[in-house]
Amino acid sequence: MLIGIPKETDAGETRVPLLPDGVKKLVAANATVVIESGLGASLQIPDSAYTDVGATLAVNRDALLSQADLILRLRKPPLDEVAKLKRGAIHISFLDPFNEHALVDAFAAQGVTAISMEMIPRITRSQKMDALSSQANLAGYAMVLLAAERLDRILPMMMTPAGTITPARVFVIGAGVAGLQAIATAKRLGARVDAFDTRPVVKEQVESLGAKFLEIDLGETGQTAGGYAKQLTEEQIAKQRQGQMDVMANSDIVITTAQVFGRKAPRIITKDMLAVMKPGAIVVDMAVDSGGNVEGSEPDREVNIGGVNVIGYRNLPGRVAQNASQMYSNNLINLVFDYWQKDEGTFTLNLEEEILKGCVITHGGELVNAVIKNARA
Ligand code: NAD
Repeated sequence: MLIGIPKETDAGETRVPLLPDGVKKLVAANATVVIESGLGASLQIPDSAYTDVGATLAVNRDALLSQADLILRLRKPPLDEVAKLKRGAIHISFLDPFNEHALVDAFAAQGVTAISMEMIPRITRSQKMDALSSQANLAGYAMVLLAAERLDRILPMMMTPAGTITPARVFVIGAGVAGLQAIATAKRLGARVDAFDTRPVVKEQVESLGAKFLEIDLGETGQTAGGYAKQLTEEQIAKQRQGQMDVMANSDIVITTAQVFGRKAPRIITKDMLAVMKPGAIVVDMAVDSGGNVEGSEPDREVNIGGVNVIGYRNLPGRVAQNASQMYSNNLINLVFDYWQKDEGTFTLNLEEEILKGCVITHGGELVNAVIKNARA
């Protein structure tokens, strides 16, 4: 099977989908691997690091796209590239399938099997392929460092002859994969951390990291079978906003990571709430790309709202691109190898198998994913 790995097209992308180590494993498993020249350039990895382990360089990008049986990449492709893919090929990447209707339809029309990394079901066996988690974890770390750097004070307590510096206060809203890593990172830097999440099971995880869980009585919240938060009612959101006010007023940094899978991110901080914060405080909105947790946050910008610096960088894992690429590359290889027949050097698509059933979006000229079909209905 010919595996093609095109260079990422987004100018702001610093991550690389597959590292030479991953290519080496594919070649050892009888795959023919073709890469686009410059694949590793953002991490200073020369083409030779890939060709040394058995990859060949594509003549050009279009040739790679039209000849590969399996395409591995990080971001969703530009819409106009789908028509260049080989009919019957398999394409694995992030896809944003809830929102990217035209892209999904183009994959179906092209007869390409599109696999969405976001849709890999969260079961124990798939943890090694879970790119949402691997990237969210690093984003959680990167967010805290970014906020700490922007803040005009230090995070830890310091007792010195000249006086005592109290620890900075960090408030993390949404304590899933990214939020828990943000809590752990802020704690390591010496901050005092409060956190809130709507899923009751999170309280214990927050406390085990040494942070304080903010109790807000929202009534019934719970979580889905997949471990995701349920959407709150407008009334519950209003209660949540009110319940966060005091901690916000005392915090130097607020980090928001709240998401409801397949839906617009909840708006949990309004401009009125920013007004209670200290001048010079920092807010990082990790959900800026999916609707925004914070009113007024803007993609890839830092906005001053009444003296509070609201940060909305989208590609937070890209700030630690080396590790993010390493983790994503491993996620891809782990996914491919679960379905790889080494003797024949082929990827077997069994659409009834649990993981593939969850993440295959289009196949045989049709939208086949039940969750995405339902969301469109
Ligand atoms: P996510 O990115 O969908 O959401 C981030 C967090 O926001 C979640 O913790 C969610 O509860 C929270 N949230 C939603 N609405 C909120 C609101 N109004 N206010 C505050 N917080 C809100 O979720 P995620 O981080 O990708 O994963 C969630 C959980 O899934 C993890 O904590 C983990 O326990 C579980 N998980 C399991 C597996 C596995 O078993 N294979 C893999 C990954 C994650």
